[in-house]
Amino acid sequence: MKKLLIQLFFLPLLAQAQSGWDNVQIKVNPVANNIYYLEGRGGNIGVLVGSEGVLLVDDQFAVLTEKITNAVKEISDAPITYIINTHYHGDHMGGNENFRKQNVSILAHKNVKARLSTTFEDKIRNVTQKAKPEGAWPTMDIPFNQMGLKLYDEDFEIIHLPASHTDGDMMVYFKKANVIHTGDAFVRYGFPFIDAAAGGSIDGFIKAQETILSLADENTKIIPGHGGISSIEHVNELLTMLKETREIIADHKNKGVALEDLIPMNPLKDYHDRWNGSFITTDLFVMLVYESL
Ligand SMILES: [Zn+2]
Repeated sequence: MKKLLIQLFFLPLLAQAQSGWDNVQIKVNPVANNIYYLEGRGGNIGVLVGSEGVLLVDDQFAVLTEKITNAVKEISDAPITYIINTHYHGDHMGGNENFRKQNVSILAHKNVKARLSTTFEDKIRNVTQKAKPEGAWPTMDIPFNQMGLKLYDEDFEIIHLPASHTDGDMMVYFKKANVIHTGDAFVRYGFPFIDAAAGGSIDGFIKAQETILSLADENTKIIPGHGGISSIEHVNELLTMLKETREIIADHKNKGVALEDLIPMNPLKDYHDRWNGSFITTDLFVMLVYESL
């Protein structure tokens, strides 16, 4: 039953994500100071503009590289020089191979290359994650939990969020502009995706919200992995939901309730109207939390 459920949940999404590329438009949104974000298809792209170069946070899908490059030209004549991959998912790093051919340096937590260079079974989603060719890997591994950089008139920190959305998530905190790009460790599409097969967990996801809140204030502009500009209120709301639902699922699991029996019990029915999404439905979220505990 579990496999069937998961196929039902994920297949329409995959089909939708792989067509209609010609209609995708890249929208440029100012955020603060010299920081922008781009919406197209896939994860939001953060943009830091300097006089000599442009740094991107994530690069969406390979078929969009030219459109993304043209969108950046709307705000700067400088070349794209650096990209930070927030994590290994294809809707955030699919452009790596194209940008590497243009000598762009790509930074990511060391676990991103570990994921991209290995074929592994995602038993939860019932798919095989195939290793990507070497040309798509980041060019620089970040072995630290936190790394500070001064570049393009900004002072920013790249911070690892262990075992949250995946095992290799890093968020970017632009201190001067007071902007945080969270990658998929914070999203606005309802229940978040905990990629438990790639080292994600509900407990790490909770910790990630606490890390964001430890740095942000009421004026911080938060660029989520998916969705519009957010504030600490949105992060607080997600954090509350994650803590409450974790306790509900953990309570059932500790009592020995099997996942197959738990789903029909609809343990998160009180959260359904607010958080059920087309990507992560209430039932799927139950599964992901359960598996990650
Ligand atoms: Zn992701």
